[in-house]
Amino acid sequence: MLTVITGPMFSGKSIELIRRINRERVAGKRVCVIKFGEDDRYSKEHLASYDGYRSGAISATTTPDIIERGDPLAEVIVIDEVQFFDDAIIDWIMEQVAGGRKIICAGLNLDFRGEPFPFGYGSVRTMADLIVRADNILKLSSICTFRDTKGVICGVEATRTQRLKNNEPANWNEPTKQIGAQESYEARCVEHHFVPR
Ligand SMILES: [Zn+2]
Repeated sequence: MLTVITGPMFSGKSIELIRRINRERVAGKRVCVIKFGEDDRYSKEHLASYDGYRSGAISATTTPDIIERGDPLAEVIVIDEVQFFDDAIIDWIMEQVAGGRKIICAGLNLDFRGEPFPFGYGSVRTMADLIVRADNILKLSSICTFRDTKGVICGVEATRTQRLKNNEPANWNEPTKQIGAQESYEARCVEHHFVPR
């Protein structure tokens, strides 16, 4: 059984994962939690709220990492930031599902351009290829934090992730994945999602 929790940044995907991890553990299930290793955005600001979850998580950056470090006896496999892995993860996940395991993934459906998030560099496979294979899909949204000239926040449902560089919308030609770069992100509605070309 494959469940995919998806949506833009700041939509609560990781919090939903933690809730589901806790449910499985209450039920006595053997759970293996995998987080993408290069992603340490929460290591300072949110350590307290994520501590219980992080302490039980395995870091990995590739599908072979997951195979090597994961728990082969896990009944439930949880993967956060699944979109950052290489495209071999799709076939690996489906093998686990075929073997009777429960897989719960969270990840961005779209990149900063509003295009399906690609797995790895140069792959034609995207999050769309994973989402269509899911038995359950939970699509979360955030709140648009665009401010007009008077400083009033938009506040409608946000389904897009805005990348900002020096407080200006980032250009279409920039690479999809830029962890640790000098930039910031905001959740935006479609109307306030800007990608200059
Ligand atoms: Zn808006």
